Amino acid sequence: MTSDVEGLVKAAGSHDARALGKLLSMVEDNDPALPAVMSALRGAGVHASYVIGLTGAPGVGKSTTTSALISLWREREQRVGVLAVDPTSPFTGGALLGDRVRMQMHATDTDVFIRSMASRGQLGGIAASTPQAVRVLEATGFDVVLVETVGVGQAEVEIAATADTTVVLLAPGMGDGIQAAKAGLLEVADLLVVNKADRDGADAAVRELQNMIATGADREPGQWRPVVVRATATAAGGIDELVEAIDKHRAWLASTGAGERRRVDRAAHEIRSIALALLSARIGLRADDARLGELAAAVVVGTIDAYAAAGVLVNES
Ligand code: GDP
Repeated sequence: MTSDVEGLVKAAGSHDARALGKLLSMVEDNDPALPAVMSALRGAGVHASYVIGLTGAPGVGKSTTTSALISLWREREQRVGVLAVDPTSPFTGGALLGDRVRMQMHATDTDVFIRSMASRGQLGGIAASTPQAVRVLEATGFDVVLVETVGVGQAEVEIAATADTTVVLLAPGMGDGIQAAKAGLLEVADLLVVNKADRDGADAAVRELQNMIATGADREPGQWRPVVVRATATAAGGIDELVEAIDKHRAWLASTGAGERRRVDRAAHEIRSIALALLSARIGLRADDARLGELAAAVVVGTIDAYAAAGVLVNES
């Protein structure tokens, strides 16, 4: 088992796409050998990728933008890994991100690796497994890792927040800024992209967002102010500006120490989600039948409250 894991990790490190795919499947499946994989990856040396989160509602142009970004990074000879994560689609594995056609042009490039990630019902769900998938790509030598998520709720805000730079994509339409604010996207966005700038309303959307940023939550002095970029991803318009803005944010993170803090926060978040999953599994194993039933019956008749009962479960595990 251990030598299998080491072989896989070694092969993935030598850019073997099949081995890499196998490691990511192990992450998705929460394979029992995952702790050994993570340990072997760490042992292979720390390679820090730059991690970019890209989120937005279905149809705003995430795949198109991702494809254009890949082209630009490839011109700079960067190895690019893409994880397309669809938190809304645990069973089909990415219905909303089904349109991989836009990325087909990169399919034969061995320095590009694109993978859709599905949650296969593991504890902690996709939000818990995405950081592990990012680790796999980081450790196997990708310069840039882009995590694309469908932005429809809280889970992907969390996923996006595991990145060094978080990009939120919007398209012109009524009340974009308000929608973004409601979804909590403005708080996690380092960069906002108004895509489909070839359509009416793009300028208004840019202005609305800039106003919201200017008047929004007080940012402490020295804080990063989200940058708004206009793009027409289908024509690769604005992609240079987007990459420039990403580079600027990256430089800001490095010069202020905020990047280091983000990485530590990210690791803390990762540890917490693994610990919760472990704890949850442990309690689940013990509580799947008699003990939980007993406690539940006691809560119903009022001999114990639910908090105390939960405490009993945790302490007994
Ligand atoms: P995703 O669901 O967010 O990944 O969006 P896609 O990248 O699949 O794009 C959804 C649709 O919008 C496709 O038909 C794209 O061709 C189109 N699209 C993407 N970017 C633009 C753009 O800048 N302008 C226009 N007019 N259409 C775009």
